[in-house]
Amino acid sequence: MQKIKKTALVWFRNDLRTQDHQNLTEATQTYERVIAFFSLDPKKFAPTVWGFKKTEKFRAQFLLESLDDLRTQLWELNIPLYVHQKAAAESIPELVEDFEIAALYFQEEWTQEEVNVSNAVLQKLSPSIRIHQRKEQFLFHPEDVPITIPNLPEVFTVFRKKCEKYGHIKTLAAAPELCERSSDWPLPKPLPSLIDLGLDEVSPDNRSAFPFQGGSKAAADRLQHYFWDSKKLSYYKNTRNGLVGLDYSSKFSPWLANGSLSPRTIYWAVKDYEKEIQKNSSTYWLVFELIWRDYFKYVSLKHGNALFQLGGILKKSYQWKTDPTLFVDWANGHTPEPFVNANMIELQKTGWMSNRGRQNVASYFAKNLWLDWRMGAAYFESLLLDYDVHSNYGNWMYVAGVGNDPRDRKFDVAWQAERYDADGKFQKRWLQQTLFP
Ligand SMILES: Cc1cc2nc3c(=O)[nH]c(=O)nc-3n(C[C@H](O)[C@H](O)[C@H](O)COP(=O)(O)OP(=O)(O)OC[C@H]3O[C@@H](n4cnc5c(N)ncnc54)[C@H](O)[C@@H]3O)c2cc1C
Repeated sequence: MQKIKKTALVWFRNDLRTQDHQNLTEATQTYERVIAFFSLDPKKFAPTVWGFKKTEKFRAQFLLESLDDLRTQLWELNIPLYVHQKAAAESIPELVEDFEIAALYFQEEWTQEEVNVSNAVLQKLSPSIRIHQRKEQFLFHPEDVPITIPNLPEVFTVFRKKCEKYGHIKTLAAAPELCERSSDWPLPKPLPSLIDLGLDEVSPDNRSAFPFQGGSKAAADRLQHYFWDSKKLSYYKNTRNGLVGLDYSSKFSPWLANGSLSPRTIYWAVKDYEKEIQKNSSTYWLVFELIWRDYFKYVSLKHGNALFQLGGILKKSYQWKTDPTLFVDWANGHTPEPFVNANMIELQKTGWMSNRGRQNVASYFAKNLWLDWRMGAAYFESLLLDYDVHSNYGNWMYVAGVGNDPRDRKFDVAWQAERYDADGKFQKRWLQQTLFP
């Protein structure tokens, strides 16, 4: 097919990859020239109403590494990636004018802040620009499951069974094509540093359970290790509640969250593994967890801003507190529960916490301290390497009893510590300095 002799712009958001990226593939198949853009909007790093920054140094560092990797991969396709410390609505109209852009491609988001950003961009563009937006963040794309969003089941198991029985998972997008690059185009400027973003440097902690780098290359290395080299995937179901070490779970979430790894890539690698190595309950369970990830995206599609409201999707009213001392003690690992403290210190020092840890500290926050769960969620948003709006607010609502948990459970934290950290290895690891200053 003859390509259009014009330039398209791919605006990257949480889709920082070149493989399995339908928008990028289509842009490169359709237009002779393509440029790419990412906005490091200062708002993403500014303090929130809760008093801490919206994005802290861990995720920011991971993001910069991801952008660096993306830039290298795009350059090999003759696509320059321009990264500006400005709002998208400021930069994109400038790029459109300077590069005479004919079409804009981007990943469609539906949560309020993200919609505000894309609406602000679209309002400033002339109607002659062709707009292509797609939801590329799913395993089961909404068009491939027989569920309408208003009729989404409120119970995960019902949703999962429908996906498993009637759903379809797309094959990977074709690789993007090589483009032409104009010699008039300016070279992209170096990426800013954490200091430029108003953040502190990250000091690596050798206890970290997530010592990996951002970017698709590191994600592919991790998949290679977890699946093919160590074959840890075969044991995932037995180890996934672990707390110490690199391999108790896949650790895919930070790459999934910023899109440097697609869930379909993982799915099709699991299918290959099942053919070539082994198919068992662990290989099934990894996909099961990816369906949880999808589920929270469907929940936010259905319930919109209820995700960020105190009563959650159930519109429940409890007597929530906002006591700052209780909050600070929780965040700094100074509660009477050593298991909560160890997890909170791990988060504070590394930006990582296991799923078992997250469930416990969130349950303690909401159901023992009765603190406004949105403060806890916002703190996770600030610190987590893998923050994802749907998974974070969906899980917090679930644990706080205002979401999709049909049983409204409360964790017995001491019992959990006994069960999952019987020898105290995890707690010793993070509480050593507190216990033996
Ligand atoms: C209070 C709370 C907040 C959370 N916030 C986030 C968040 O901001 N971002 C995020 O990605 N996950 C979040 N989770 C879900 C889960 O804890 C992490 O996805 C998981 O710990 C990541 O580790 P992993 O990649 O090794 O997971 P694995 O156990 O290897 O699972 C594979 C993948 O399945 C998905 N997954 C697993 N469990 C869940 C779950 N409960 N909900 C949604 N997806 C899941 C993730 O994409 C994960 O990478 C949260 C959980 C709780 C209880």
